[in-house]
Amino acid sequence: MAKWACKLCIMTKGLLGSQIDSLPDAEDSEGIARHIESEHHIAVRREDESEEAALKRFRDAYPEAGGPSCKCPSCQVGYSHNGVLEP
Ligand SMILES: [Zn+2]
Ligand SMILES: [Zn+2]
Repeated sequence: MAKWACKLCIMTKGLLGSQIDSLPDAEDSEGIARHIESEHHIAVRREDESEEAALKRFRDAYPEAGGPSCKCPSCQVGYSHNGVLEP
């Protein structure tokens, strides 16, 4: 099965071989969502969640997001951590 190419990994650091190997499969939407949240600190709303619930879950799981060690690509370009990525 094809690996999913993370646009954020490509954008921020290019996609390295080791990163490609650890990426979820293209059809594994839960794995992709987890990757984006843990590697890029961007909340991803699951199908059964409200936007509010997604943000709360995300903040509880990744308290460092939005702080000085935030890994999201757009703390520099204005991502406010007040929204979620739609599935
Ligand atoms: Zn990535
Ligand atoms: Zn950030």
